[in-house]
Amino acid sequence: MFKEKLEQWKHILRNDIGIDLGTANMLVYVRGKGIVLNEPSVVAVNQKTNQVVAVGTEAKNMLGRTPPHIVAVRPIVDGVISDFEVTEEMIHYLLNKAQSISKKILGPRVVVGVPSGITNVETRAVRDATKNAGASEVHIVEEPMAAAIGMHLPINEPLGNMVIDIGGGTADIAVISLGGVVASKNVRVAGDKLNTDISSYIRNEFKIVIGEKTAEEIKVTVTSLLLGKVSLETQARGRDLITGLPREVVVTDSDIRDAISHSIERLVESTKEVLEITPPEILSDIMHRGIYLAGGGALIKGFAEVLSEEIKMPVYIADDPLTCVVRGTGIILENIEKFKDILIADENNVSNKTH
Ligand code: ADP
Ligand code: MG
Repeated sequence: MFKEKLEQWKHILRNDIGIDLGTANMLVYVRGKGIVLNEPSVVAVNQKTNQVVAVGTEAKNMLGRTPPHIVAVRPIVDGVISDFEVTEEMIHYLLNKAQSISKKILGPRVVVGVPSGITNVETRAVRDATKNAGASEVHIVEEPMAAAIGMHLPINEPLGNMVIDIGGGTADIAVISLGGVVASKNVRVAGDKLNTDISSYIRNEFKIVIGEKTAEEIKVTVTSLLLGKVSLETQARGRDLITGLPREVVVTDSDIRDAISHSIERLVESTKEVLEITPPEILSDIMHRGIYLAGGGALIKGFAEVLSEEIKMPVYIADDPLTCVVRGTGIILENIEKFKDILIADENNVSNKTH
């Protein structure tokens, strides 16, 4: 009783904040307010002074337009934290923004979603960075688990749930039952790889070099894995490999299907590999209940259909796939007792009974 009252008081005095630290996008949820921030995971750093000059949307707008001493970096590459200091600055920025939206006296309680491929050292770094940024309590959750919670899948029941979260750097394929990951795989084939597939294809086929932003635009506008439907096309502008001058070409959905076919195949194969190591009872649940897609890659037109055809199981796209993880962190914050077993424990706060 007393404990409950104390929790209620704490909720009045401090914010509950959920963070999705994605490789491409970072999102922040504040309990009672909803998603308050959704920006690219980019930080601009001045290399002369080693100072962070911009974070998020502001930093992304600088990409490719900075003087040589300012570099825009994505500190979480391929689901691995490549730069701890910059990641810490990023977390600072996110917490400060969230705290300025809803002012409270105590330091916030924070749930952070991290890519499932990250190591213990990286997990500790995220935890420390979040504490340094003023959090009073930090809980870490693996993103595929948070995504499943965000989709309201019954992850705590003895029932197989399968989630594929295709982000920027990595795709997380996970089978979850009774609050635990039963089988999983983390592959470095996701949105960024499709962008480089598209750039290389255009370079080889049309002999022009396109920028990263152009590749991304082409991907979002003309990718379709569905044959025989309306054909899509777009103009792409790049630099001619031979003359060095700008040139425009027309790129169609058929070009893009060629460009990304190998990566799509790898995603399908990886899914099969996870199914192969899934225990039979759980496999049968998944055959009935289907697979759920989250992350920006879930929006690749026709991917759900292609996957379903290949593995002979239903495949569904989550509602608003880009916000599943952060909404999941919000649900965890509201029911922290129910979900405490799925959170990655803080080694410093776990009492070691063998001592
Ligand atoms: P992360 O969790 O790694 O930050 P997200 O889940 O935010 O990644 O997804 C970002 C990726 O999704 C980017 O590579 C982006 O290009 C891709 N993406 C977003 N919308 C679409 C779309 N409509 N079609 C294909 N890819 C998309
Ligand atoms: Mg993600």
